[in-house]
Amino acid sequence: MNRDKTQICILGGGFGGLYTALYLSKFSWSHKCNIVLIEQKDRFLFTPLLYELLTQELKPQEIAPSYQKLLRHTKIQFCQNKIVKVDLKNQNIELATGDRLLYDYAIVAVGNKNRVPQIPGSDLVYNFRTLADVELIEAKIELLLQSCQPRKLQIAIVGTGANGIELACKLADRLPKNAKIRAVDRSSAILKDFSPQVRSAADRALKKRNIKVDLETEVAKITSQSITLIYQSNQTVTLPVDLVFWTGGIESHQWIADLSHCKQNATGKILTLPTLQLIDYPEVFAIGDVAKIYNSERSLPATAQVAYQQANLIATNIQASLKGKSLKSFQYLHLGDMLTLGNGAAVISSFSFVLEGYLAAIVRQLVYIQRLPTNRHRFQVVKNILIRGIKGIFNCKPKLKYSNIKHNKIK
Ligand SMILES: Cc1cc2nc3c(=O)[nH]c(=O)nc-3n(C[C@H](O)[C@H](O)[C@H](O)COP(=O)(O)OP(=O)(O)OC[C@H]3O[C@@H](n4cnc5c(N)ncnc54)[C@H](O)[C@@H]3O)c2cc1C
Repeated sequence: MNRDKTQICILGGGFGGLYTALYLSKFSWSHKCNIVLIEQKDRFLFTPLLYELLTQELKPQEIAPSYQKLLRHTKIQFCQNKIVKVDLKNQNIELATGDRLLYDYAIVAVGNKNRVPQIPGSDLVYNFRTLADVELIEAKIELLLQSCQPRKLQIAIVGTGANGIELACKLADRLPKNAKIRAVDRSSAILKDFSPQVRSAADRALKKRNIKVDLETEVAKITSQSITLIYQSNQTVTLPVDLVFWTGGIESHQWIADLSHCKQNATGKILTLPTLQLIDYPEVFAIGDVAKIYNSERSLPATAQVAYQQANLIATNIQASLKGKSLKSFQYLHLGDMLTLGNGAAVISSFSFVLEGYLAAIVRQLVYIQRLPTNRHRFQVVKNILIRGIKGIFNCKPKLKYSNIKHNKIK
């Protein structure tokens, strides 16, 4: 790497990191910098569309393009490696291979990981965050459907936030009609961070699919065949279950929590100034799920929408810093919420406008396609969808059911 150039290292290639790199690479001065994107995986994952893999509405390569393809025509250097440590004082990053990268600017965008539940049987739960998770789920469902016949398949989903509700609806549409799905949460309402209109739409979608919801309910224990629930802190019930999904809670990576000389909140999030710079290190920015703006009255959700908007500001602020200008503060504009509520069903709530049903599902997919990282990739996905649509019309294929889903191995 040319050290005569300004070295900008981006740690993590998710929503915050990849989009910051892409914004930076578009500036006319970017040829004077080395923009290095360090990421452990070989594919970017557009998480909001992960559910569509379960129902095969979309294909893995459409929601998870390789970084190599995405960055081919850009000035961004991709470094596939695992970050193990950052030395903020000496401005260097240690990689799992033992290499060290020096930086002039660093952007910490490594997101979060699932919080492991502290209950007996926590090693038996399935997560729904990555392509590898989907692959494991596919294999497990296949196995269960073969062994469960003729009895009903029983699934429990812990957590009734967006992840739990979307997963429940998609699974219900994907599995045979007699599969029993139960969503469990310790809180008193589903989707507690969403508007009443979104909650009502989700409620209707759950009822339509016979998904049982147990609120004010704690999970006490999980075994390979059962789940023990405590209803409203007094009644304990053990129910048969074949598969448990855990969607409740995320936490910081250990090496982030261990970062020395870096101010963090109680949950291990890196505290930043409103400009998204670290409090004591103005050359380091933190973005997305890993970060929290210090003393901010408004707590920002851990969403792609936030990370995406912050990416734009960080690129602009690095430009301002290089030019000796003052940096801007982050102002979050909540554009709305979009949830998939099953196959060809969704709810969209934007400002005071609410849309539900099939039209919402189409709009949601179009909005997300428009948000895919590059024009080339966007064009490819639209082309694939159109080809599938045309083929579908001519083949007059029946509606998707579990039995006619062929399992493509996710690569
Ligand atoms: C199933 C699902 C659905 C979602 N749906 C929505 C939605 O509809 N709308 C919405 O706004 N948000 C949604 N989210 C939330 C959204 O995905 C996150 O808020 C967003 O990805 C956060 O971006 P980030 O850049 O902070 O982290 P991430 O996107 O998680 O990126 C972090 C990156 O860092 C990499 N990394 C981590 N540790 C290391 C390391 N040590 N070395 C190298 N690389 C590392 C990871 O591999 C990852 O690529 C969803 C999340 C999930 C799981």
